[in-house]
Amino acid sequence: MLKVHNIQANYGAVCALHDISLDVMPGEIIVLLGMNGAGKSTTLKAISGLIHPARGSIIFQDKPIDRMSPEQVVRMGIAHVPEGRHVFPGLTVRENLIMGTSNRRVSHRETEQDIERILHIFPDLKRLYTQMGWSLSGGQQQMLAIGRGLMARPQLLMLDEPSLGLAPVVVKQMFRTIEELNREGMTILLVEQNVNLSLRIAHRAYLLETGRIIRTDRSANLLQDNSFKSALLGAGHGVA
Ligand code: ATP
Repeated sequence: MLKVHNIQANYGAVCALHDISLDVMPGEIIVLLGMNGAGKSTTLKAISGLIHPARGSIIFQDKPIDRMSPEQVVRMGIAHVPEGRHVFPGLTVRENLIMGTSNRRVSHRETEQDIERILHIFPDLKRLYTQMGWSLSGGQQQMLAIGRGLMARPQLLMLDEPSLGLAPVVVKQMFRTIEELNREGMTILLVEQNVNLSLRIAHRAYLLETGRIIRTDRSANLLQDNSFKSALLGAGHGVA
């Protein structure tokens, strides 16, 4: 579904990605792990068109997307829920969800059907439907940000640290929701600090270090590899 091949990406003179290659198959949950500054968020930004790689290629559904704008990438079927949620504080839950359709033309009926589907996935949002974004808790804002991403009807959903800053009980609920979305057919590329929980739901993982992939394996193998986990956990990553 997605093939990232030898990409290099820079912020001005800073080389953030030296050589990243990864692939995502339909129906998978893939997690990108690594210490702060390893290049995980930059990899998602390169895929979603927020930055363009200096070298390498990104192929989605057999089409090159590495020169496309973020709007074009969304239309291709990739939704990116960035770190930090970015819910519109002065808009209601409903209005925030509708913002997720702004990249495509949809009928009123389709929009209402999509909202209905998302409220079914996130029942909490139903209760909060007319409330303003700013009044939501961190977990509710994260659910809303994911819901807004789903409004684009993506084939690939990219989530950047969805559990960041959430209470442990909300983190567990978040991971359950991600797993359910995947069970219903959504392909997911996840960036996470929580090594154990993300390896438990992911099919495969990539470990990044200073802009390079240094290891990739099935999650089941990595979960049993104590040296792998302690290297990451020693770097201050979540244990839960
Ligand atoms: P984190 O968990 O801290 O978000 P990460 O693995 O997602 O880490 P990135 O945010 O992708 O890492 O950063 C990769 C490298 O690029 C780091 O060295 C970082 O300092 C640098 N970087 C990221 N964003 C910018 C920017 N806007 N301008 C300059 N350098 C940046």
